[in-house]
This record gives sequence, structure tokens and C-alpha cells, in this order.
Amino acid sequence: MNPFKAIINLFLPNRCIICGERLSVSSEYICCLPCTVDFPKTKFWAEDNKMTSAFRELTGDDRCFATSLFYYKEDSPFRAITHSLKYEYGLKTGRYYSELLAQEILHDWVFQDLDLIIPVPIHAFRRFTRGYNQSEVIAKTLGSELEVKTDNRVIKRSRYTKTQTKLSGSDKQSNVSGAFKALKKVDAKHILLVDDVYTSGSTLAECYKVLRECTDTDTKISIATLAFVDKL
Ligand SMILES: [Zn+2]
Repeated sequence: MNPFKAIINLFLPNRCIICGERLSVSSEYICCLPCTVDFPKTKFWAEDNKMTSAFRELTGDDRCFATSLFYYKEDSPFRAITHSLKYEYGLKTGRYYSELLAQEILHDWVFQDLDLIIPVPIHAFRRFTRGYNQSEVIAKTLGSELEVKTDNRVIKRSRYTKTQTKLSGSDKQSNVSGAFKALKKVDAKHILLVDDVYTSGSTLAECYKVLRECTDTDTKISIATLAFVDKL
């Protein structure tokens, strides 16, 4: 055992990101075994799942596919994953679960022709105060795992918007309406647009609209998120 790591662990013990249970000093995992077993995976195959249907309804585009790694609920301990990534500088957590999402995407035939990954942008001021864009962390991990190019300079968040978390469905829609703009034209066969959480889909649908303006008509635009809020 690395003595330096052992001393660090004595004062700052390695704990499960989900339940806080102490992990062994040598553990490379970020969550304990019971939490790994209980992980609420969506098991979404992008060709046919409720997220794909919902996103197709929002965009009116039947060529879109959508996938997400796990179900998100307000009272679930697993919300710690996206909370940590968004508010607590949880980059290691974000990368760990993005690698799991990459494995799902890698085995899904509808994503075999992906050639560009684009993260949902955050406003420059929010990026400055947070220090990073959480969707970019996910997009970069997916890009390196799937060996697909990532570009965070295609769309920009031009308007500072309120956080979506506490808004109702229609308020979310109007909150993000016109908030993004395209910075350049892109040439791609199949783009994967990436965000941390899918709630109403309004942010992703707004980015989709902007991407449509800067891509060819035969470019497919799909989406992937770490978490999916199941309203049923
Ligand atoms: Zn745990």
C-alpha cells in the first residue's frame, strides 16, 4: 500500500459518493458495492425508449436518438452524482459515470456513425464562477472513450438564464428560448449533443434548433445525458 495514500486516507477517508460509506484505502472505485448493485440504470437502447420518443416529439425529427445512463429522482441518493459534478467540482465523479455512459453508447448500433460530440454550453459568466462546464466534462470523456471528435465552439449560450431546476415545464421552455446561437457551420454525419440531466428536454431541444441552422439537412442530431428524470 502506498504510505502517502494511507496517511491521506486517515484524515480524508475515501468515501462512497452515493451513501458516504467508507471505502478501503486501496479502492479505485468511487462508490461502494451495495450502491453499485442498486444503481438505477435506465438500460435505454436509443432506438426505442421513452427519452427518444419524447425528444422526437419536441423536435419533430424522427432521426433523433436519445439515451441516458441512470434515472434521476429528487429523493434518490444517486442525485449526488450530477449534484457533485455541477456544484462540488466533482470532475472525477463526472468522468467515472461518463465512462459508463460511453460503454452503453459504444454497444448501441444507432450510434456507430457518430462523428462529432457537442456539449450544451453554459453562459461565460456561469463558466467563470463554476470553473468549468459540466456538460463539457461529460462530452470530453465520451469523446476520448468513443474516439469521436468533441467541439465546444459550435454553439454558444448568448443569454444568461435562470437555473432550470425549479421552473415548471412551460417556464423552462420560455427561459431557454433564444438563449443559444450558432458560431460556425459544421460538417458532420451524426452529432451527439450532450448534457448532464434530461428533465423537460427544453434546453436540448433549443440547442437542437440552433444546430439545425448550422448543419446540412441530412445531418442526424442525437442526444445523451448522464441522468434522466422520469416523470411517470
Ligand atoms: Zn455507497
